[in-house]
Amino acid sequence: MLKRVLFTVVLAHVCLSVHLVSQIRFEKYFTDETCRFDYVHTGTKGSEQFSLSAVSTEGAWPGSLVRLVDTLNLGEYQFRVVDVEEDRVIYSRGYSTIFNEWQTTDEAMHGAYRSFNESVRFPLPRRKVKIEFYRRNKRMEFVKVYATDLDPGDVAINREKPLSGMPVTKVMHHGSPHEKVDIVILGDGYTKKEMKKFLAQARHYTDQLFATHPFASRKKDFNVWAVSVASNESGVDEPDKKIWHRTALGVSYNTFGSARYALTMDNDAVRKYAAVAPYDFVCILVNNARYGGGGIYQLYATCFTGAESKETAWHGDYVFVHEFGHSFGGLGDEYYTSDVPYTDFLPAGVEPWEPNVAALVTRDELKWRDLVAASTSLPTEWQKSVYDSLSAVPRTLQRNAPDYAAKRKTVLDSVTNFLDRHPLTGVIGAFEGAGYMSKGLYRPAVNCRMFSKSLVDFDPVCSRAINSMIDLYTK
Ligand SMILES: [Zn+2]
Repeated sequence: MLKRVLFTVVLAHVCLSVHLVSQIRFEKYFTDETCRFDYVHTGTKGSEQFSLSAVSTEGAWPGSLVRLVDTLNLGEYQFRVVDVEEDRVIYSRGYSTIFNEWQTTDEAMHGAYRSFNESVRFPLPRRKVKIEFYRRNKRMEFVKVYATDLDPGDVAINREKPLSGMPVTKVMHHGSPHEKVDIVILGDGYTKKEMKKFLAQARHYTDQLFATHPFASRKKDFNVWAVSVASNESGVDEPDKKIWHRTALGVSYNTFGSARYALTMDNDAVRKYAAVAPYDFVCILVNNARYGGGGIYQLYATCFTGAESKETAWHGDYVFVHEFGHSFGGLGDEYYTSDVPYTDFLPAGVEPWEPNVAALVTRDELKWRDLVAASTSLPTEWQKSVYDSLSAVPRTLQRNAPDYAAKRKTVLDSVTNFLDRHPLTGVIGAFEGAGYMSKGLYRPAVNCRMFSKSLVDFDPVCSRAINSMIDLYTK
């Protein structure tokens, strides 16, 4: 058997707190350009290896000039740019990867290896730096897993200009990219003839996002750009239907065997097209009416567009904002009834890093305890058994039956009614059932955009996380 462990994570974790207190002066350490660091992330369950593939510049730096060190402690990974001369962290961001999701699939559990292309972006340093990568251990502490030197004077750094000739539309503009969150919307599977449709949908989903609390009240902190990327063919890949289309970004349904999980593994294409506009966050609209999407923290969110039927026309509105909650806010799924392809997404007994999912729920430990009223019991009883019996019904229905859609709608409406009229609406507590687990994980409110399939706003804990993220890019 030639199975080899490529890399074992046994390195001491490093405390960053010393670096967080003092402000980094941008001009001293950085030029106002973007540096993109590409690497291949290889491994299987329990082991991983990073290897540098390319470093390039990508136009002006769109991020904050002030909030350079990440204080939010979100994400499965964190990268740090360390000034060598002063041994000081001058930039950092938490993020998550498709690789770490893949590690929880059966394929990885059985020892298969796979490689994923990933990138991190940071302002181009003026002098030599170390790029350090950290991964959370089982206790959720960041442990260094890879580090490499970067000399900004290296002639091998690719300084080609970003792609030209791609029309960029200002969907929403409120000011300098340095002081705003910049979202770039890309489309996949739209032909040249469908560019009008793409732009109309980019506007539609932007409106949906900013109709949802708390984004609605922070609209002026955002710029939204749409890059008109044309694909040769209309629609994206649907492997389970044997439908294949060569598209600009390579989005495909059936990621990790899940019918509705639509991601692209073509990191280079996404980055290349996104860099045509100033961006902090990427949204990909998928030119396909089949329900689906996905969102990875600090990578991108995808969303189907259009609708399978008139009755379900709002589903895309729900998905777009929900997936953006993952990719922007680092929010975890609060639902627990759906089948997902992961087998150990959150290990038992571990407090997840997601700001809206908790395992520890005593009054002293609960991470959103400052928002819980003294009169609210912890954990908070919420008639879970009623909800469970209502939401179990759709899985008993025959998918191929002619009245499937109608029957399913009736059941889902009853679930929505239960949540909308719940006596604990507006109460912040610890409601059992979150993060794909029916037991042992808790969410902050009865209902939220990260919990139920409806157009409900984000709950107060998710809203606080979203607001903190907006501040990181705008303050
Ligand atoms: Zn989700």
